[in-house]
Amino acid sequence: MTKILIVEDEKPMAEAIRYSLEKESYAADVATDGDEGLRMFESGGYELVILDIMLPGTDGLEICKKIRQAGGTPVIILTAKDSEVDRVIGLELGADDYVTKPFSMRELMARVRAILRRSMEAPQEASMLEGGDVAVDIDRHEVIVRGSVVDLPLIEYRLLEVFLKNKGKVLPRERLVSAAWQGEFYGQPKTLDVHIRRLREKLEEDPAHPSRIITVRGVGYRFEPKFRPTNGD
Ligand code: CA
Repeated sequence: MTKILIVEDEKPMAEAIRYSLEKESYAADVATDGDEGLRMFESGGYELVILDIMLPGTDGLEICKKIRQAGGTPVIILTAKDSEVDRVIGLELGADDYVTKPFSMRELMARVRAILRRSMEAPQEASMLEGGDVAVDIDRHEVIVRGSVVDLPLIEYRLLEVFLKNKGKVLPRERLVSAAWQGEFYGQPKTLDVHIRRLREKLEEDPAHPSRIITVRGVGYRFEPKFRPTNGD
């Protein structure tokens, strides 16, 4: 059974959340101050934490930080202040979602379901980088182009990896060089372009007119996620 930790100092609120979670067949425990919450979290076994920000003892933001340091357990923040600042701080600290008080239990339960669904799928997502019809399976160190595995030398593999992590963004040449050679670059500036050309030959349908790895003159390159057109070719 999926175990959820509720850290909330307002007891009626905490009990209402627990009741709703149990109705959805989750197991739920309540901590009513920050220190107790942290202790219970550290004792382990929770797949989600619902966390109030304003708490006696260790406050919610601090707890959120600690949960983040401990790993990937998702956190939903409850906040009384409907200010953008709180939202940003909460999400910057790594909360997966937030709900502003007052909220409906229905809304909170929908968030809980969505986050648990996402976190079940997460391990798979984390090991795959995708951009259009090009993908990298990081665990297997494999590159898949339009459904077929393609062999890439290490430098080109690293270039593709940094492109897929930064889809649509212009990557300056220096950034690409440091990602590809990791501080051991002894080549000429043109060396990067040679590797880009080889990468294009493997990814592009028409390497002479690339539509995925785009040259940004005077700056570097940009990766555009593209699929091969299904008709007209
Ligand atoms: Ca509170």
